[in-house]
Amino acid sequence: MTPKTVAKVDKGGLIVITGPSGVGKGTLLNRLCQRYPDLFRLSVSVTTRSPRPQEVDGREYFFWDRQKFEQARQAGFFLEWAEYADNLYGTPKQQVEDTIAQGKWVLLEIDLEGARQIAQTFPEALRIFIAPPSMAVLEERLRKRLTDSEEAIAKRLAHAAIEMAAMDEFDYVIVNDDLEEAVAELETAILGEETWQKSANSSSGSS
Ligand code: 5GP
Repeated sequence: MTPKTVAKVDKGGLIVITGPSGVGKGTLLNRLCQRYPDLFRLSVSVTTRSPRPQEVDGREYFFWDRQKFEQARQAGFFLEWAEYADNLYGTPKQQVEDTIAQGKWVLLEIDLEGARQIAQTFPEALRIFIAPPSMAVLEERLRKRLTDSEEAIAKRLAHAAIEMAAMDEFDYVIVNDDLEEAVAELETAILGEETWQKSANSSSGSS
Protein backbone atom coordinates (compact mmCIF):
# COMPACT_ATOMS: atom_id res chain seq x y z
CA MET A 1 0.00 0.00 0.00
CA THR A 2 1.19 3.54 -0.68
CA PRO A 3 1.45 5.59 2.52
CA LYS A 4 -1.02 8.49 2.53
CA THR A 5 0.59 10.35 5.39
CA VAL A 6 3.76 9.68 7.31
CA ALA A 7 3.84 11.09 10.84
CA LYS A 8 6.75 13.48 11.25
CA VAL A 9 8.09 14.63 14.59
CA ASP A 10 8.09 18.29 13.58
CA LYS A 11 4.41 18.48 12.68
CA GLY A 12 1.22 17.32 14.33
CA GLY A 13 -1.98 15.94 12.88
CA LEU A 14 -4.89 13.60 13.26
CA ILE A 15 -5.00 9.82 13.00
CA VAL A 16 -8.38 8.08 13.14
CA ILE A 17 -8.57 4.49 14.34
CA THR A 18 -11.87 2.69 13.79
CA GLY A 19 -12.96 -0.90 14.16
CA PRO A 20 -15.55 -3.02 15.93
CA SER A 21 -15.86 -2.87 19.68
CA GLY A 22 -13.75 -5.65 21.19
CA VAL A 23 -11.25 -5.77 18.32
CA GLY A 24 -8.40 -4.56 20.56
CA LYS A 25 -7.96 -0.97 19.37
CA GLY A 26 -7.23 0.28 22.88
CA THR A 27 -4.43 -2.21 23.49
CA LEU A 28 -2.84 -1.44 20.11
CA LEU A 29 -2.95 2.30 20.68
CA ASN A 30 -1.61 2.07 24.21
CA ARG A 31 1.37 0.12 22.86
CA LEU A 32 1.99 2.81 20.26
CA CYS A 33 1.78 5.64 22.81
CA GLN A 34 4.10 3.82 25.22
CA ARG A 35 6.65 3.37 22.48
CA TYR A 36 6.46 6.92 21.14
CA PRO A 37 5.34 9.09 24.08
CA ASP A 38 6.67 12.28 22.48
CA LEU A 39 4.96 11.72 19.17
CA PHE A 40 1.44 10.49 19.94
CA ARG A 41 -1.34 11.43 22.32
CA LEU A 42 -4.52 9.40 22.72
CA SER A 43 -7.58 11.65 22.75
CA VAL A 44 -9.85 11.05 25.76
CA SER A 45 -13.50 11.07 24.66
CA VAL A 46 -16.63 11.94 26.59
CA THR A 47 -19.29 9.22 26.89
CA THR A 48 -22.69 8.80 28.49
CA ARG A 49 -22.16 5.05 29.04
CA SER A 50 -21.40 3.77 32.54
CA PRO A 51 -17.79 3.08 33.44
CA ARG A 52 -16.70 -0.56 33.27
CA PRO A 53 -14.79 -2.02 36.22
CA GLN A 54 -11.18 -0.70 36.06
CA GLU A 55 -12.16 2.34 34.00
CA VAL A 56 -11.26 5.68 35.55
CA ASP A 57 -12.98 9.00 34.84
CA GLY A 58 -10.61 11.17 32.82
CA ARG A 59 -8.38 8.25 31.80
CA GLU A 60 -10.39 5.92 29.50
CA TYR A 61 -13.24 8.42 29.11
CA PHE A 62 -14.87 11.40 30.76
CA PHE A 63 -18.14 9.89 32.00
CA TRP A 64 -20.91 12.49 31.71
CA ASP A 65 -24.69 12.31 31.92
CA ARG A 66 -26.77 12.88 28.78
CA GLN A 67 -27.87 16.39 29.76
CA LYS A 68 -24.30 17.62 30.21
CA PHE A 69 -23.28 15.95 26.95
CA GLU A 70 -26.18 17.55 25.04
CA GLN A 71 -25.40 21.00 26.42
CA ALA A 72 -21.74 20.66 25.45
CA ARG A 73 -22.68 19.37 22.00
CA GLN A 74 -24.94 22.34 21.37
CA ALA A 75 -22.19 24.70 22.52
CA GLY A 76 -19.84 23.23 19.86
CA PHE A 77 -17.60 21.48 22.37
CA PHE A 78 -17.09 18.37 20.20
CA LEU A 79 -14.97 17.89 17.10
CA GLU A 80 -17.25 14.97 16.22
CA TRP A 81 -19.80 12.92 18.10
CA ALA A 82 -21.98 9.85 17.55
CA GLU A 83 -24.56 7.63 19.18
CA TYR A 84 -23.34 4.07 19.59
CA ALA A 85 -25.35 1.23 21.19
CA ASP A 86 -27.67 3.73 22.94
CA ASN A 87 -24.87 5.89 24.34
CA LEU A 88 -23.35 9.15 23.16
CA TYR A 89 -19.63 9.54 22.49
CA GLY A 90 -17.74 12.69 21.52
CA THR A 91 -14.22 14.02 20.99
CA PRO A 92 -13.45 17.27 22.86
CA LYS A 93 -12.27 19.76 20.24
CA GLN A 94 -9.95 21.89 22.38
CA GLN A 95 -7.90 18.93 23.59
CA VAL A 96 -7.23 17.89 19.99
CA GLU A 97 -6.35 21.39 18.80
CA ASP A 98 -3.97 21.98 21.71
CA THR A 99 -2.17 18.69 21.12
CA ILE A 100 -1.75 19.33 17.38
CA ALA A 101 -0.47 22.84 18.17
CA GLN A 102 2.24 21.17 20.28
CA GLY A 103 3.37 19.30 17.17
CA LYS A 104 1.99 15.93 18.28
CA TRP A 105 -0.19 13.41 16.50
CA VAL A 106 -3.59 12.86 18.06
CA LEU A 107 -4.99 9.34 17.94
CA LEU A 108 -8.79 9.30 17.76
CA GLU A 109 -10.31 5.92 18.61
CA ILE A 110 -13.81 6.50 17.26
CA ASP A 111 -16.66 4.68 15.55
CA LEU A 112 -17.53 4.67 11.85
CA GLU A 113 -19.93 7.59 12.08
CA GLY A 114 -17.27 9.71 13.79
CA ALA A 115 -14.64 8.62 11.24
CA ARG A 116 -16.94 9.76 8.43
CA GLN A 117 -17.39 13.16 10.10
CA ILE A 118 -13.61 13.56 10.38
CA ALA A 119 -13.22 12.58 6.71
CA GLN A 120 -15.34 15.64 5.90
CA THR A 121 -13.78 18.10 8.34
CA PHE A 122 -10.15 16.82 8.25
CA PRO A 123 -9.70 15.12 4.86
CA GLU A 124 -5.94 15.06 5.45
CA ALA A 125 -6.33 12.79 8.52
CA LEU A 126 -4.91 9.28 8.18
CA ARG A 127 -7.72 6.75 8.67
CA ILE A 128 -6.98 3.20 9.79
CA PHE A 129 -9.43 0.35 10.23
CA ILE A 130 -8.70 -2.46 12.71
CA ALA A 131 -10.50 -5.69 11.83
CA PRO A 132 -10.86 -8.95 13.76
CA PRO A 133 -9.66 -12.19 12.10
CA SER A 134 -13.35 -13.21 11.92
CA MET A 135 -16.73 -12.30 13.39
CA ALA A 136 -16.60 -15.49 15.48
CA VAL A 137 -13.33 -14.36 17.09
CA LEU A 138 -14.81 -10.92 17.74
CA GLU A 139 -17.84 -12.44 19.47
CA GLU A 140 -15.57 -14.61 21.61
CA ARG A 141 -13.49 -11.56 22.63
CA LEU A 142 -16.59 -9.56 23.52
CA ARG A 143 -17.89 -12.41 25.66
CA LYS A 144 -14.53 -12.87 27.40
CA ARG A 145 -14.63 -9.24 28.44
CA LEU A 146 -17.58 -10.24 30.65
CA THR A 147 -18.51 -6.63 31.28
CA ASP A 148 -21.38 -6.21 28.83
CA SER A 149 -24.88 -7.64 29.03
CA GLU A 150 -26.17 -10.03 26.33
CA GLU A 151 -28.18 -7.15 24.91
CA ALA A 152 -25.13 -4.88 24.77
CA ILE A 153 -23.06 -7.65 23.12
CA ALA A 154 -25.79 -8.17 20.49
CA LYS A 155 -25.85 -4.44 19.72
CA ARG A 156 -22.07 -4.30 19.42
CA LEU A 157 -22.05 -7.32 17.06
CA ALA A 158 -24.75 -5.75 14.87
CA HIS A 159 -22.75 -2.52 14.76
CA ALA A 160 -19.59 -4.50 13.99
CA ALA A 161 -21.16 -5.95 10.84
CA ILE A 162 -21.98 -2.42 9.61
CA GLU A 163 -18.45 -1.22 10.38
CA MET A 164 -16.81 -4.23 8.67
CA ALA A 165 -18.82 -3.50 5.52
CA ALA A 166 -17.28 0.00 5.40
CA MET A 167 -13.60 -0.89 5.81
CA ASP A 168 -12.83 0.04 2.18
CA GLU A 169 -13.38 3.69 3.11
CA PHE A 170 -10.13 3.63 5.11
CA ASP A 171 -6.53 4.22 4.05
CA TYR A 172 -5.33 1.04 5.78
CA VAL A 173 -6.94 -2.12 7.12
CA ILE A 174 -5.03 -4.01 9.82
CA VAL A 175 -6.21 -7.43 10.99
CA ASN A 176 -5.63 -7.83 14.72
CA ASP A 177 -4.89 -11.53 14.92
CA ASP A 178 -1.45 -11.51 16.53
CA LEU A 179 -0.98 -8.41 18.74
CA GLU A 180 2.72 -7.89 18.03
CA GLU A 181 2.21 -8.19 14.28
CA ALA A 182 -0.71 -5.78 14.40
CA VAL A 183 1.36 -3.22 16.37
CA ALA A 184 4.15 -3.54 13.79
CA GLU A 185 1.68 -3.01 10.94
CA LEU A 186 0.21 0.00 12.69
CA GLU A 187 3.66 1.52 13.08
CA THR A 188 4.38 0.91 9.41
CA ALA A 189 1.09 2.48 8.36
CA ILE A 190 1.67 5.58 10.47
CA LEU A 191 5.40 6.06 10.49
CA GLY A 192 6.39 4.36 7.28
CA GLU A 193 8.48 1.29 6.59
CA GLU A 194 11.83 2.97 7.06
CA THR A 195 11.11 4.48 10.46
CA TRP A 196 9.64 1.24 11.74
CA GLN A 197 12.73 -0.74 10.73
CA LYS A 198 14.93 1.83 12.44
CA SER A 199 12.94 1.73 15.66
CA ALA A 200 12.82 -2.08 15.62
CA ASN A 201 16.61 -2.16 15.42
CA SER A 202 17.18 0.39 18.20
CA SER A 203 17.31 -0.81 21.80
CA SER A 204 14.92 1.81 23.21
CA GLY A 205 12.46 1.38 20.38
CA SER A 206 11.68 5.10 20.23
CA SER A 207 12.51 7.35 17.29
P1 5GP B 1 -16.84 1.36 24.10
O1 5GP B 1 -18.16 1.61 24.76
O2 5GP B 1 -16.63 -0.10 23.77
O3 5GP B 1 -15.69 1.96 24.87
O4 5GP B 1 -16.86 2.13 22.70
C1 5GP B 1 -17.87 1.88 21.78
C2 5GP B 1 -17.49 2.50 20.45
O5 5GP B 1 -17.48 3.93 20.56
C3 5GP B 1 -16.12 2.11 19.94
O6 5GP B 1 -16.22 1.76 18.57
C4 5GP B 1 -15.30 3.36 20.11
O7 5GP B 1 -14.27 3.45 19.14
C5 5GP B 1 -16.34 4.43 19.89
N1 5GP B 1 -15.97 5.72 20.45
C6 5GP B 1 -15.27 5.98 21.57
N2 5GP B 1 -15.11 7.31 21.74
C7 5GP B 1 -15.70 7.90 20.68
C8 5GP B 1 -15.84 9.27 20.26
O8 5GP B 1 -15.39 10.21 20.90
N3 5GP B 1 -16.53 9.48 19.11
C9 5GP B 1 -17.05 8.46 18.36
N4 5GP B 1 -17.67 8.78 17.24
N5 5GP B 1 -16.93 7.17 18.71
C10 5GP B 1 -16.26 6.90 19.86
